[in-house]
Amino acid sequence: MVINKVLAKSILNKSNIPGVSFCLNPYTGCQHACRYCYADFMKKYTNHLEPWGEFVDIKINAENILSKELKKAPKKRVLISSVTDPYQPLEKEYGLTRKCIQLLLDHQFPVSILTKSPLVERDIDLLRNFQDCEVGITITTDNDYYRKIFEPGAPSIEERLNTLERLKKNRIKTYVFIGPILPMDVKVLGDRLKGLADRVVIDKLNYPSKVRKIYQDYKIGYALSEDYLRETTRALEEIAGVPA
Ligand code: SF4
Repeated sequence: MVINKVLAKSILNKSNIPGVSFCLNPYTGCQHACRYCYADFMKKYTNHLEPWGEFVDIKINAENILSKELKKAPKKRVLISSVTDPYQPLEKEYGLTRKCIQLLLDHQFPVSILTKSPLVERDIDLLRNFQDCEVGITITTDNDYYRKIFEPGAPSIEERLNTLERLKKNRIKTYVFIGPILPMDVKVLGDRLKGLADRVVIDKLNYPSKVRKIYQDYKIGYALSEDYLRETTRALEEIAGVPA
């Protein structure tokens, strides 16, 4: 893993993602190394030659720069994060995400967090003091066998489900992001999710060409078909009881 400390020019970036005005990415690169990750396009903004998942740039001035940007920015929703996981393992050491969240809390910006990591629980003390805050946990399958294939550096599915549960217990608004839909037992996942999330967002695999060979090698090509994706989406919506 190649880890660099870098100085970012900006940290609060305008976003076109529906429902979000700004994205905040304290890191470039992601240790979770998901094989389907669309964010690997970020490589072109770095000098890295390593594959996605094998480098991280730490925006060491994130707190400093954010404190200046928040003074001028309209108080609109911030997504943490859009092209990295804000709670990847390095966050434990560097705490950039926590420092940025503290600043956003000081200014009461509405925030949405999206992560695959239980490390988000460390910041519950801050998150529960926002007037408007939701935490999303990405869960793409019920089956850790597939998780290890597609998300080799990310925490287990069970850990993520437990995190959702603890966030809920702490009265933090939660959502589950089921995207991309990987091979799964819909009933097992749907049942396990019941009561754990205030809303469910479902997304199919947007760039199948990135992982087509993996699907072939593991003989799970059925899970790339339109029929599978349509039927799984329908079943998840029904079981979770929440529309996409
Ligand atoms: S956790 Fe998110 S940003 Fe990180 S590699 Fe996986 S999909 Fe990409």
